Amino acid sequence: MAHAPRRGRRPTLTRNVAPGVHRLEHAYVNCYLIEDGSSVTIVDAGFPSTWAPLLLALDEIGRSRRDVDALVLTHAHFDHIGFAARAQAELRVPIWVHQADEHLAAHPYHYQRERTPFIYPLLYPAAIPVLAGMTAAGALAVKGVENVHHLPETGTLDVPGQPQVVFSPGHTFGHTALFLPNRGALLSGDALVTLDPYKGSRGAQIIAGAATADSVMALDTLTALADTDAGIVLPGHGDPWSGGIRAAVDAAREFGAS
Ligand SMILES: [Zn+2]
Ligand SMILES: [Zn+2]
Repeated sequence: MAHAPRRGRRPTLTRNVAPGVHRLEHAYVNCYLIEDGSSVTIVDAGFPSTWAPLLLALDEIGRSRRDVDALVLTHAHFDHIGFAARAQAELRVPIWVHQADEHLAAHPYHYQRERTPFIYPLLYPAAIPVLAGMTAAGALAVKGVENVHHLPETGTLDVPGQPQVVFSPGHTFGHTALFLPNRGALLSGDALVTLDPYKGSRGAQIIAGAATADSVMALDTLTALADTDAGIVLPGHGDPWSGGIRAAVDAAREFGAS
């Protein structure tokens, strides 16, 4: 059953959610910092106001902004590209996103979804503090980002951490998860989350039709995630899941679409 989340709104850094992978949660959205030697890859870009917590997080792990070599976007929804344009301008790092999400990255409020999101707070009151927290963090003022690099659909990405790309369309048509085989961790983006911001529900699940382009495809794509056999799942929203991706996928299928 859905319950009001009591945590998640303030920026919180949790170090080593997987070896050398750090989770920065702000306004119920996760970014991850992958350390590789002295270099860092950032995965997802929260909201515009996540920028200051990001710089503090780098400081806390003993790195500087000069150590950041890449920003990889699992997908281009507004709650995952908040500081992308600023990172591009100030850190001068390449922004990686799948080609199918390139238009969305440039125009973050023009996304496809199955249902209007405005009905969800009425149906799911637990979502109200989550959506209010996201709005306060700048969810309605996200700038688009252009001149991105296109993620491949298979293989290893040559950025710090050497993640394997796991093309996983459905939530968006370019959604791409990242698998770190040496660290046993899958960064599942919004293809599989443990908190749905539109319902306030916790537990392994796909995101509601309010923000998902194609729920049937999103359920289907869980197979690609399960095939990694990752022990740790690090989602775009919600806490890490340490029970293995196969159990997470089973739970998400059980939960179904909404
Ligand atoms: Zn999303
Ligand atoms: Zn999201």
